[in-house]
Amino acid sequence: MAQEIKKKRRFHSANVAVIGLGRFGSALATELVKSGHQVLGIDSDDRIVQNLSTVLTHVVAADTTDEETLRELGIADLDSAVVAIGADLEASILTASLLLQLGVKQVWAKANSESHGRILRQIGVHQVIFPEYEMGRRVAHQVSGESLDYVHIDEDFVMVKTYVPEVFEDKVLAEAKIRATFGVTVVAINDGNGYKPAFPESVLRKGNTIVIAGPKGPLDQFCQLD
Ligand code: ATP
Repeated sequence: MAQEIKKKRRFHSANVAVIGLGRFGSALATELVKSGHQVLGIDSDDRIVQNLSTVLTHVVAADTTDEETLRELGIADLDSAVVAIGADLEASILTASLLLQLGVKQVWAKANSESHGRILRQIGVHQVIFPEYEMGRRVAHQVSGESLDYVHIDEDFVMVKTYVPEVFEDKVLAEAKIRATFGVTVVAINDGNGYKPAFPESVLRKGNTIVIAGPKGPLDQFCQLD
């Protein structure tokens, strides 16, 4: 059964269009290709298209506010499309609305501001992302020294990478009773040789880093332990 699931997962590769290949769009498109997906990159700037021609599966220079162009590119047949145009509000909204009209199953769009995000949601974009805002929140926890990394899984559920607090050094995980006391779960431990899943018998050592998941409030409290 597990083997079957693994096999199915391995062969799942999506066809994704990334529209707007600025800093965010090009990083996203490149990462998708590295993860084995077929990516159609589109940008109105010829130079950008030229630079990414050897990196992405297909790259096209086109204005995506033109319906006919999107039809010719066969956008409607793709699994999903990401509108990564930020500064040009009109181009972002027009492109997103055309993708929805053409029936693209999953339309994602980047928003540069709260109002931009609100409009994208109102026209029916399935996922609106705020890269600068989300990265700012993540880095804040690192800069403040509370954690080594901090990722919001949901508004009230986070995953954190942090050092083993002194109070838990040399404790067996089952005896540390971290879940019972704080309501958070240690997911993985890095003893210097890479992350391994955490087991009840795992030992927490000084200098080890751990990955913990849980509700934001309790997890923030845990991170404030010395
Ligand atoms: P980033 O921060 O990711 O660099 P940004 O938020 O500054 O991007 P923009 O500069 O508006 O966003 O757009 C990103 C890319 O989208 C640019 O490379 C631009 O050429 C492209 N773009 C803008 N309008 C269109 C359009 N109508 N059709 C296709 N591409 C477009």
